[in-house]
Amino acid sequence: MKTWVKNPLAIWTGNELSAPDGLLIEDCLIKELVVGTPSSYDQVFDASNLVILPGLINCHHHFYQTLTRALPIAANLKLFPWLQSLYPIWANLTHDAIKASSELAIAELLLSGCTTVSDHHYVFSDQLTDSIDIQIQAAKKLGIRAVLCRGSMSLGESSGGLPPDSIIQTEDQILRDSERLLNQYHDQAEQGAMVQIALAPCSPFSVTPSLMSNTAELAATHGARLHTHLAETEDENRFCEDTFNMRPLDYLESRGWLHQNTWLAHGIHFNDQEINRLGSAGTGICHCPTSNMILGSGTCRSLELEAAGSPVGLGVDGSASNDGSNLMQEARQALLLARLYYGADRMTVDHSLRWLSTGGARLLGRTDIGQIAPAMQADLALFSLDDLRFSGAADPLTALIMCGAHTAEHVMVAGTWRVLNQQLVDTDLSQIKANHQRAATSLLSSVQS
Ligand SMILES: [Zn+2]
Repeated sequence: MKTWVKNPLAIWTGNELSAPDGLLIEDCLIKELVVGTPSSYDQVFDASNLVILPGLINCHHHFYQTLTRALPIAANLKLFPWLQSLYPIWANLTHDAIKASSELAIAELLLSGCTTVSDHHYVFSDQLTDSIDIQIQAAKKLGIRAVLCRGSMSLGESSGGLPPDSIIQTEDQILRDSERLLNQYHDQAEQGAMVQIALAPCSPFSVTPSLMSNTAELAATHGARLHTHLAETEDENRFCEDTFNMRPLDYLESRGWLHQNTWLAHGIHFNDQEINRLGSAGTGICHCPTSNMILGSGTCRSLELEAAGSPVGLGVDGSASNDGSNLMQEARQALLLARLYYGADRMTVDHSLRWLSTGGARLLGRTDIGQIAPAMQADLALFSLDDLRFSGAADPLTALIMCGAHTAEHVMVAGTWRVLNQQLVDTDLSQIKANHQRAATSLLSSVQS
C-alpha cells in the first residue's frame, strides 16, 4: 500500500527545511520526498496546513514516576533528598502500577508527537521482577517504538549508597535478568526494530563499581547500548570524590563506559576538559531541561558538548521531576534554557528540532529513524498551526517551538497511524486514565497505611 501524504505546509527532514509536494509512504518506509506527483500511489492523505517532522525521539524517562507527580513531600527538594523522600513510595510499585503508568506515559508521549521512547526502569523488588516485560507489552499495545533500559541498583544505604536496601538487588540477580531480557527481546536489526533493550545501572550513588564493569561487558556481548544518570548534581560530584576518589567522568571511564555506545542522562557538571573527552569518545548526552530546572540541578552545557562531538538529544525525564511527558514542550524548554545560558544569538530553533530527531536517533544508535528521507522508517509527527497560539506566525517551523506546540495532529509509527485528529487510534484513553488514577491512589495509600 502506497500513501501520498500530500501538500504539507513544510517538512523538516531532520537536517533542513524541505517543501516538496509531500511524502510517499510504502508499508513501514518512506519511499520518496515527492516533487510534483508520485509515479504511483494507492491513496492520498491530505496534509494541507500541517507541518511534518520526523517522529520525535524521547531518550530518557521513568514511566512509573507518572504515579507520583506534583507530590507535596517532594515538591521543593534537591535531587538527593527528593529521591530519599520518594524511594519508600516507589518500593511499593505493583504489576498493575507498572502497567497503568507505562500505558499513560506512552499515550502522553504519542499525543505530543513522539514515536520512539527510551524508558529507564531501575526499581525492582522481590515482589516485582518483571517490570520491563510489562513495559514491553504496553509499548506493543500502543504501537510506539521502544528502547527499554534495564536499570539496576545494587548499592543500598547500609553499604553507603542512597537507596534503601529493600529496593536493591544483588549483582547476580541483575546480570541474570539483564541477560534474560537481552536474549528474549533485544532486536539488533539495523532496520525497523520496535523493541530494544539497553542496560542501565542507575547512578554512581546507587550502584556498585563491579556492576558497572560487568554490565558494560554484558552489553558488549549482546550489541546493546549503555545508559546511566551522570553528572546531574554537585552532590553527586562530592559522592564520587569521597567514595571513589575521582570525579564522575573518571569513574565512568574506569568502568569501561566512555565510548560511543553509551548515552548519559543530564550531563550537567562537566568541566572543559571533560567535555572534550566526552566529545572525542562520541558519548551521547540526553539533555532534560525541565527536570534540571525543577530540581535546580544546574544547566547542561549542551552547545559545547555538541560542538565537542557528543550527540545531544532530549528527554522529558521521569514525571516526578517534570511533571509531564510532553517532548515538544521539552524542545521549547531546551531553547529557552540555552538562550539564558549562551545568549539569544547562539541557540536556534534548528538546534531544538535537531535534538528532537537526528540527535535522539544518534543517542539510541539508530540509523533508520529521526530523519525524513527515502528508506527511513515511516515515523512522522504532523502538527497543525490552526490554533490561537500560532495565529499570525510568519514561519511555520519557528512557530512550532517559539509559540509552544503542544499536541500533534497526527502521528505515524512504522507506517501505521497511531494518532489521528489528536486522538489515539483504537485506544480507550478514558480507561487508561481511570486505571492510572486508581494505581496512583493505591500507591500513595499503601505508604500511608
Ligand atoms: Zn532520570
